[in-house]
Amino acid sequence: MPTYEYECSGCNHAFEMLQSMTEAKLTKCPACKKNKLHRLIGTGSGVIFKGSGFYETDYKKKDAPKAEPKPEVKPSCSTSCPHAGKCAA
Ligand SMILES: [Zn+2]
Repeated sequence: MPTYEYECSGCNHAFEMLQSMTEAKLTKCPACKKNKLHRLIGTGSGVIFKGSGFYETDYKKKDAPKAEPKPEVKPSCSTSCPHAGKCAA
């Protein structure tokens, strides 16, 4: 709701009044009770739209170091093995 500024030409009483756009403007001065109230134009409160910040999100791909699979070391069996080559099965 905009705030309207009123001023009485009879007693110079000035005040602000919060009124809706459809509400009839006041004419009767609350101070001197005379119909010499005038609504001043140009004091409507404007709505300020503050620019909403657009935040960029960094989608940084994490370069995960490739874990090189360790070569599976199987116990080699040689002829010198007491199991006679049957341990590497
Ligand atoms: Zn007045």
